[in-house]
Amino acid sequence: MKITHQSVVSMDYTLKNKDGAVIDTSEGKTPLVFMYGSNQIISGLERELESLQSGDSKDVVVDPADAYGVRRDDLLDKVSITQFPDPEQVKVGAQFNAGTSQGERVCTVIDVAAEDVTLDFNHPLAGETLYFQVKIVDVREATADELAHGHVHSPNCQHGH
Ligand code: ZN
Repeated sequence: MKITHQSVVSMDYTLKNKDGAVIDTSEGKTPLVFMYGSNQIISGLERELESLQSGDSKDVVVDPADAYGVRRDDLLDKVSITQFPDPEQVKVGAQFNAGTSQGERVCTVIDVAAEDVTLDFNHPLAGETLYFQVKIVDVREATADELAHGHVHSPNCQHGH
């Protein structure tokens, strides 16, 4: 069957950046399984999958605005290095969770000076154009239970039904 609203899709994928470096892939793992049209994958990829069927492959290029957003300078933050329990461990490129006024967010260290550390709260893939190669492995109708729950049930589903 063809992918349509609320189909259950199994899909192999490889995600590369503009330099051709692999960011993520299902290769060597199980395919990604998701309910189509349920905001479980990024919108710019999802809308390009409509009407594909098992065995179809497609290359999809997704602009930042339809992926993880554009980079925002106001998401950079400078904090004192004395706020870190172990300043020796604070290195450019390190990622960790930090409490913010919007709750816990992932940030990346982008600069370490003598007294200040600059943190970047943009998503690591913000501003990146994403290059997907996808292959549809299977498309099936969602079960009544899955439609009621709005997500896919696997054989080892943990939430009690
Ligand atoms: Zn469920």
